[in-house]
Amino acid sequence: IHPSSDLLKRLPKQFFNDLVQTVHRFQQEGYDVINLGQGNPDLPTPTAIVDALKQAADDTRHHKYSPFQGYIELKQAVSDYYSREYDVTLDPSTEVAILPGTKTGLVELSQCLLNPGDTVLVPDPGYPDYLSGVALAGAEVIPMPLLATNQFLPNYQDLEKTDLSQTKLMFINYPNNPTGAKADESFFSETVSFAKKHHISVCHDFAYHTIQFDGEKAPSFLATPGAKEVGIEMFTLSKAYNMAGWRVGFAVGNKSIIKKLELIQDHLYVSIFGAVQMAAKAALTGDQTTTIALTKTYETRRHALITALTELGWDVQAPAGTFFCWLKVPENFTSESFSAYLLEEAKVVVAPGNGFGSYGEGYVRLALLDSVDRLIEAAHRIEKTGLFKA
Ligand code: PLP
Repeated sequence: IHPSSDLLKRLPKQFFNDLVQTVHRFQQEGYDVINLGQGNPDLPTPTAIVDALKQAADDTRHHKYSPFQGYIELKQAVSDYYSREYDVTLDPSTEVAILPGTKTGLVELSQCLLNPGDTVLVPDPGYPDYLSGVALAGAEVIPMPLLATNQFLPNYQDLEKTDLSQTKLMFINYPNNPTGAKADESFFSETVSFAKKHHISVCHDFAYHTIQFDGEKAPSFLATPGAKEVGIEMFTLSKAYNMAGWRVGFAVGNKSIIKKLELIQDHLYVSIFGAVQMAAKAALTGDQTTTIALTKTYETRRHALITALTELGWDVQAPAGTFFCWLKVPENFTSESFSAYLLEEAKVVVAPGNGFGSYGEGYVRLALLDSVDRLIEAAHRIEKTGLFKA
């Protein structure tokens, strides 16, 4: 009696749900599981941001519906942030949209730009939610392979051989989940040329914008000449400020796309809680020391885990950014069989690479979202399985 719409049936399986259930089952059975599978930041939101929320929550002006486009003062804070950090000029009233997290924005974007039969270039391996938006828009995915041999960047020359006549949109994401790869300005310039040539809109997902290592700063796509003509950047507070639970993010860039996103938003929800908007403003305008320290924390964890895994004999590469390590599975294993092996034998949870697309087969993703001690403990447990002994 409760039929499912055809669009709902198109939604891909959320493989993380299985992962969460498996972890839960092992914990119920009393095992001390080290969970490096999910990408949920383990550290708290900086106190100054929590205090800004508390103060704003007491102000009854924020208890009402806020304007559906959100507070202009928050958009101004985003514009100031981009100007300060990336030398990018954004008109707060037309080039910034406030979103309840960028996951929502990524799904809405497909609804804004796509019709059934359109195709979309999606990174493979890639963040799974790009697929959900494309599915709900009734459009089709063209996987864009991210290969180690090309530094996990799409190869636009190879893509020229693909039929792009129906392609309306492409997603890119650097620093990259799941591979930990980075992109530079020249790659973004190439992206702009490719998009202009084929009349494709670009969405650069900048979720890990502050998390690049070795003293480097991740560039904004919008700093590339011509980028604003072809697309937008999604920009979230979830990772840089440990605010994943707060649900606040932004789309910035091309006016026409921002307008469409706000139109959808007007029909779906009435912006986000005003007090959260004030706290978000405090995050962007306040002291950035905690955010810088957070990247250092991930860098220290990266060093500890990669060193320990290398010492035990696993041939691994360190990520350039994000809080993920993308590691090749040993011979005779698949992504899933190796993940299952680590869970059974070491009680260490990792995400199987094929959950991020078929080009993710042969890899597992480990999140740096536990203390150095626990990461080293995970490496010791893996060592004890004896698998990597020569
Ligand atoms: N994009 C990427 C690549 C992510 O890894 C995530 C979260 O894990 C998101 C977007 C969504 O972030 P949020 O919805 O919290 O803004």
